Amino acid sequence: MAVRGTDASVAVVTGGNRGIGLEVVRQLAERGYRVVLGARDEDKGRAAAAWADPGGERVSAVRLDVSDDASVTAMAARVTEHLGRTDVVVNNAAILYDTWARARSADLDEVRRALDTNLFGAWRVTQALLPLLERSPHPRVVNVSSEEGSLAGMRGGTPAYSVSKAALNALTRLLAGELGPRRVLVNAVCPGWTDTDMGRGGRPVSEGAAGVVWAATLPDDGPTGGFFRDGKPIPW
Ligand code: NAP
Repeated sequence: MAVRGTDASVAVVTGGNRGIGLEVVRQLAERGYRVVLGARDEDKGRAAAAWADPGGERVSAVRLDVSDDASVTAMAARVTEHLGRTDVVVNNAAILYDTWARARSADLDEVRRALDTNLFGAWRVTQALLPLLERSPHPRVVNVSSEEGSLAGMRGGTPAYSVSKAALNALTRLLAGELGPRRVLVNAVCPGWTDTDMGRGGRPVSEGAAGVVWAATLPDDGPTGGFFRDGKPIPW
């Protein structure tokens, strides 16, 4: 993990090798952050880091499977050893936008798999990096969620994904409440329908990522425990 410069804020982005995560990496690096790009596949991670930061000064790739305890622990150890700080965690990695499924007949193994990445992945990564976050002068956690996880709007369908994002929203509220006294701002962000492998045909990736970067770079008097799209509150 070779990234030069020792005083810039450090952001860890999960699922950083493609889609919204990769663009979040690029935008944070552009703003001067040192970015740790988490990717399940190390080669894809390195290629993505080179795309986001051709100079190789701000972005470094680390192997990270958020569904694997050992992988998350190893990532946190590497960040601690090589960078010694984490100021921003972007829990972006997610799977299983199961538009084909219905709650009444869903394959519960599939639901469990979605929860393991979309909920427990974010939970694991946040817990593992919390000792570093708590030492940051401006700690931020962004849980990349979806309006599909909004209880207010749920009418059936996409069960694994929707339940996992509703649970991620609940985790956001719990962490925001518990970490408020430690000045950690924790928010959930829906990027909106965005043109990635998951959201073919949506708006440009730069726009979906911008709302995530907004929450990652909030000022100290910014909101916590909220659910936002494009910097504006949306219903839980
Ligand atoms: P995407 O193109 O499918 O990319 C998903 C990323 O997550 C990939 O980098 C993937 O890595 C990674 N990932 C999956 N499982 C992982 C694991 N166990 N460990 C580490 N990384 C893992 O999705 P996207 O559209 O960019 O979505 C990013 C976030 O936005 C997700 O949280 C998604 O739910 C949310 N979102 C997207 C939309 C949309 O329209 N696109 C709308 C609302 C919310 P691999 O390359 O190894 O598979």
